[in-house]
Amino acid sequence: MLHTPSDETIDRLESGLAALAEFRDPSRPGWTREVFSEPYRASREWTAKRMREAGLEVVVDNAGNIVGRLPGEDPSAPALVTGSHTDTVDGGGRFDGIVGVLGAIEAARELQQTGTRLGRDLLVVDFLGEESNAYGLSCLGSRAAARELAPEDLERTDYRGVRLGKAYADYGLDPSKLTEIPWARRRLHRFIELHIEQGPTLEKRGLPLGVVTAITGIERFIATFTGSADHAGTTSMEDRRDAMVAAAEAVLAVRSEGCGAPTHGVATSTRVESESRSPNVVPSLVRMYSEVRSVDEYWLSGVKGRLTGEILAKSAELGVDVGLDWSTDNHIVKADKGVQDVVASAADSLDIAWAPIPSGATHDAVHMASLAPMGMIFIPSKDGKSHCPEEWTDTADIEVGVGALVQTIKELDRL
Ligand SMILES: [Zn+2]
Repeated sequence: MLHTPSDETIDRLESGLAALAEFRDPSRPGWTREVFSEPYRASREWTAKRMREAGLEVVVDNAGNIVGRLPGEDPSAPALVTGSHTDTVDGGGRFDGIVGVLGAIEAARELQQTGTRLGRDLLVVDFLGEESNAYGLSCLGSRAAARELAPEDLERTDYRGVRLGKAYADYGLDPSKLTEIPWARRRLHRFIELHIEQGPTLEKRGLPLGVVTAITGIERFIATFTGSADHAGTTSMEDRRDAMVAAAEAVLAVRSEGCGAPTHGVATSTRVESESRSPNVVPSLVRMYSEVRSVDEYWLSGVKGRLTGEILAKSAELGVDVGLDWSTDNHIVKADKGVQDVVASAADSLDIAWAPIPSGATHDAVHMASLAPMGMIFIPSKDGKSHCPEEWTDTADIEVGVGALVQTIKELDRL
């Protein structure tokens, strides 16, 4: 039987979004609920209660993830997992992650109300701290679940010098047991995450649903340009070794690579810092921070080589030495083809128009992909805005997403 969410489900989703939005840091703009903060702690009690009210058996695991279990006919069969996160960035919005948690809770409730007993357990997870935090680490809960949280990560410090390990301990979690997570050590069947797109593609194309094909890889570099500090009044233009000009050329090279990407590809320079404090000295030491993202492995590895070559050549012309320090922040993670097909067929059966879409942002699904074949369902973001107070998704779009999630869960259960 096909299924669309009931009016009560829609009302509960709307009131849930409003209720969670109240858990925020009033001293910060937007709806700020950062990991380890007091509003976040309080909100998690609310979320656990909402899960219990929906008939789920709730545990908080050693990594701080809230896990609600809807028992299936065969509890020994690999469990189907869905969920997302409810923390926000500083000055964030009310939908990123939250839709995927509240939507999953309502999906579990709908299954029970329509008398659908799954063959296997359904686990609804609210992952701890998905957003990048003061320690520069994102997806804390899903990373721990996937055993991708290393002991050295706990040594990272925030701007006050507080270690991540201490932040965990202060929050009431044992830093030595974070990856001891029984539900994640079981064999898992599939992982499916409902999320807002956080970009403009679906809205621009007038589509209510996206079937995620892959989650972007991110390559970052820090370039250090070393020229010569000379008098800005007496040194002729041809005699200069201006590190700032070399950095400026590099910024344009980064942009031009992004603009020339054949598929999804973007390139951004986020910061340029000069050591020169004086307005009358030719800059001699400049650091530049950039990143390149794509779901196209070929382009992403090519752009690394091309940018390195271009920046080196341009800097050499200007007499400036340059060192490039590349690091991979995220590898490209492809959504499982089988899960993509199920989401697409669920959408088709509900008459929901959809398109395949890459994710330019990272998600808990990146880490869950190492535990189970993974897929994601995107719904539109108004004006493509996200990580800001204006972030918005219409209730009608959330309704479509939850309907597709319920149908997807039923079809995945049968695989
Ligand atoms: Zn998110």
